[in-house]
Amino acid sequence: MQTTSLIQLRDALRCGDISAENAVNTCLDRIRTTEPVVQALVHTDAENALNTARSLDAQGPSADMPLWGVPIILKDLLATKGQPTTCCSKMLENFTPFYNAHVVDRLQQAGAIVLAKSNMDEFAMGSSTENSAVQQTKNPWDTTRVPGGSSGGSAAAVAAGQAPGALGTDTGGSIRQPAGFCGIVGLKPTYGRVSRYGLVAYGSSLDQIGPMTRCVADSAAILQAIAGHDPKDSTSVAIEVPDYTAALEQTTDLSGWRIGVPREYWGDGLSDEVAETCRAFLDQAREHGAELVDVSLPHTKYAIATYYILVMAEASSNLSRFDGVRYGHRADDAANLMEMYSKSRSQGFGREVQRRILLGTYALSAGYYDAYYKKAAQVRRLIRDDYLQAFASCDLLCGPVAPTTAFGLGEKTDDPLQMYLTDIFTNPLNLTGLPGLSLPAGIGRTSGLPVGVQLFGPAFGESALLQAGHVLEQARGPLPEPTALAGLD
Ligand code: GLN
Repeated sequence: MQTTSLIQLRDALRCGDISAENAVNTCLDRIRTTEPVVQALVHTDAENALNTARSLDAQGPSADMPLWGVPIILKDLLATKGQPTTCCSKMLENFTPFYNAHVVDRLQQAGAIVLAKSNMDEFAMGSSTENSAVQQTKNPWDTTRVPGGSSGGSAAAVAAGQAPGALGTDTGGSIRQPAGFCGIVGLKPTYGRVSRYGLVAYGSSLDQIGPMTRCVADSAAILQAIAGHDPKDSTSVAIEVPDYTAALEQTTDLSGWRIGVPREYWGDGLSDEVAETCRAFLDQAREHGAELVDVSLPHTKYAIATYYILVMAEASSNLSRFDGVRYGHRADDAANLMEMYSKSRSQGFGREVQRRILLGTYALSAGYYDAYYKKAAQVRRLIRDDYLQAFASCDLLCGPVAPTTAFGLGEKTDDPLQMYLTDIFTNPLNLTGLPGLSLPAGIGRTSGLPVGVQLFGPAFGESALLQAGHVLEQARGPLPEPTALAGLD
């Protein structure tokens, strides 16, 4: 089992203990042994990764390249020049962009090597990766269970040790929830912290790209490379990027920190083992000096309805470009233009994507706009105000990532509403734009599966999230190896 963290690997590469080619080969070996079990990847370009590694080796490590030689996996909705970018949809099955997403350029400038693209729910719509048109990713802790979604491929790949880190995207929880289900660390940065240029848009006012890693320090290292202003994304914010790694080194305990515990996150619907494991995590925070404060986020109960109206509305508009002309699959047996549009879109999009386009178009239609879209936009502001008020008296907030541990494959696929409800603790944060860090609180006593806990921070408060996460991760101690992979090299 590959247990080296990204930071350890980076340091070994930097001082010449191992070559970049070696690092890539180690990951490729691990992919060969674990991929038949987890099916996390949809495209691996070994040749390209090895060539990049060899040219890095020929130049030697450089101080300007903080991720020199580090292999990284990307969710398959981030544009990669000359490499397939399919969003795990039949619609984009043959799409190869001619440019890189900003984050991909930034990673490559930092010396990282793109190793593979990972499986996901089609166009990032889902909570289990079961909506992928390509394959079904399995949870590395139990292959009868989902890895979470929509960045389930990235989460399973990192948990399986296929690479020390990956990028995912989080529109309503898709970094934090699969990280929680697979026992890894996932960070959703503040909206505007990381450029969305070259990310295939789902809900543009909600989407953020972020790191998925095996520990908090690794998350800081990736965020450092991808954060910052990009003139090509008008919503990216031009404020200074702090030194995240230095911030971690400054903190050894949480004395003087006030951590808010929102009542609405700890009540009905939470499974006993999730409640118990997350409470033990809070106890550790207290033992490490934090003061726990009871807070209320009273509009949380409206978050799922608000989120799904807004995200579907935005998706219906964003996905209009996939019409067989501008982008995407084109039906070849249409008699006229309208038939070409409708056949292309019916053939290219899966059921869940079609459902959301229909519902989103409905919510935006002239007679219903005020009742649905406008109302949801107003409630979104109330939800955001709840959080801002809580941050007036707390440094961070803490709650579970999901009501249960990873659920069974197929368990919720016939009931979209049940699937949407699993997002109850992750959707609200995207509506606020604020950052959140998900990390394993421990292993659930009944299921034996990882339990994710999340910390929320004020706008651009990623340093504080990482600092607290790092302290509490040390307090928790190392996790066991994912059970379904035990015994594999
Ligand atoms: N489960 C949520 C949805 O289906 C979130 C997905 C995401 O964050 N990409 O919309």
